[in-house]
Amino acid sequence: MPKLAKKSTMSLGRIFMSDCLFCKIIDGSIPSYTVYEDDKVKVFLDINPNNDGHLLVIPKEHKANLYEMDDDTLIYMLNIIREKLKSILSDKLNIDGLTISQNNDYGQEVKHFHIHVIPRYKNDKFPLASNCSKVEDVYHKLVG
Ligand code: 5GP
Ligand code: ZN
Repeated sequence: MPKLAKKSTMSLGRIFMSDCLFCKIIDGSIPSYTVYEDDKVKVFLDINPNNDGHLLVIPKEHKANLYEMDDDTLIYMLNIIREKLKSILSDKLNIDGLTISQNNDYGQEVKHFHIHVIPRYKNDKFPLASNCSKVEDVYHKLVG
């Protein structure tokens, strides 16, 4: 069976990859528990969290990995974490810290650039699996 070529199109002025899970989350064809969104980024809960409140921050423009990212968008994303997400997580989930990670190529499951923002709680089991609450319940705490 021949492999289908990856299809990139422009949607609302942005590059959109038709076979990309996170592009589909951006356009709403795959649902997500979105915690923050603006014209440049989307932030939603990871479906398989390492800790309660594990967020993924993604650019709306499709970029596969760190090497394709422009400086301005990277700085913008870090500022969203520092200036918006930290206070939401502190206020709503009472976190004790934040671990930020980002995978490229090997170890990267979804080939659309994303930053993991993982809340830390005193005595948590991170990076081992912890007993996470249902993502839906965490979402209601965060946006409720
Ligand atoms: P990576 O390994 O690429 O750094 O991380 C990809 C992350 O995306 C994983 O933590 C995984 O749980 C998360 N993920 C995979 N599919 C979905 C999905 O359909 N929805 C959400 N919200 N997260 C997903
Ligand atoms: Zn994408």
